[in-house]
Amino acid sequence: MNKRTIKYLSFDYINTELREELIASFTKGLDSQWYILGSQVTQFEEEWAAWNQSKYAIGVASGLDAIIIALRCLDIGSGDEVIVPSNTYIASVMAVTMVGATPIFVEPNPDTFNIDPNKIEAKITAKTKAIIPVHLYGQISEMEAIMTIAEKHNLFVVEDNAQSQGSLCNGKIAGSFGHMNATSFYPGKNIGALGDGGAITTNDEALYHKARMYRNYGSEKKYHNTVIGYNSRLDEIQAGLLSVKMKKLDTWNIQRQEVAQWYDQALANINEIQSPRIAPNIQSVYHIYPVQVKQREALQSFLKSNGVHTLIHYPIPTHLSEAYQYLGYQSGDFPIAEQIAKQELSLPIYPGLTQEDIHYIADLIRQFYSK
Ligand SMILES: *Cc1c(COP(=O)(O)O)cnc(C)c1O
Repeated sequence: MNKRTIKYLSFDYINTELREELIASFTKGLDSQWYILGSQVTQFEEEWAAWNQSKYAIGVASGLDAIIIALRCLDIGSGDEVIVPSNTYIASVMAVTMVGATPIFVEPNPDTFNIDPNKIEAKITAKTKAIIPVHLYGQISEMEAIMTIAEKHNLFVVEDNAQSQGSLCNGKIAGSFGHMNATSFYPGKNIGALGDGGAITTNDEALYHKARMYRNYGSEKKYHNTVIGYNSRLDEIQAGLLSVKMKKLDTWNIQRQEVAQWYDQALANINEIQSPRIAPNIQSVYHIYPVQVKQREALQSFLKSNGVHTLIHYPIPTHLSEAYQYLGYQSGDFPIAEQIAKQELSLPIYPGLTQEDIHYIADLIRQFYSK
């Protein structure tokens, strides 16, 4: 085997493919001399809402802000409880605590790594106001089951769809189930800006207007400040770049699915490694290709010494992070999330990887475990 270098994430393919169009879009933005909340944002919001099968989209400054603003629009704050997955990126939990509410953790299904709907009801109290399902690694949560529970208990649902743009549950797209749904255009997401960005989707006209106020100092109409809001706007230039990238999103998601299929096949007969399991009613868009492995640290450095870069999503579960010490959780409180944190390894996945790249990686993994 000739040695290769395979980065964990590379923009080579998509930047080459769209280079001219991105530069043209930037130039248009530059020459417009209108940089905040103008026609580019409006156009992208319309495109994003349509693609996301939602009536409305609101562009904001980041994925974290999208969740915070969604919670504010739903009047969730101090004294309220919000159900969140114990296995998640910390942003979903930070949004809850930023608005003054208390996160209540629910363990994941060990097969899908996403929140286990069967464990939600036991955590609902009189204070519970909302559920935030986080669609991790490209795979939407079991949204039909979650919406049924939410309706039964009169709770709001805010999907954290930062990682699963385009994923389907029984044919329905992520970000179209909840009352308000958040996504992120952080550069490495399935669709990323060239900087920070995020969006909220909703079908509720009143919530749409409220979110437009919250992102802009509490005002939809200049100098008429209705609520105490934020400065959290998607830039015109970023919106223009995102409109260019949107046209390729479906194709890129298919390319990710293809890479995942190559991994699934190449890794199937290595016992020490467990490929992601996708429920039959769900279509993943493989933001991440998470495997569960034995001897993770040794495997990771073996791969690195052979040119293959990997990451861990995420090494410290939220309830054990320093920021959340005050919640008083200890090691052992959420054993499934803790087990994932100890065994998860993310292999490179993005448009532009070839089948040869994947075979190179799989051969190295086989070589590592046969030693
Ligand atoms: C990336 C991410 C976010 C936050 O998005 P930012 O745009 O970086 O603020 C939130 N939740 C999850 C699950 C993410 O992966």
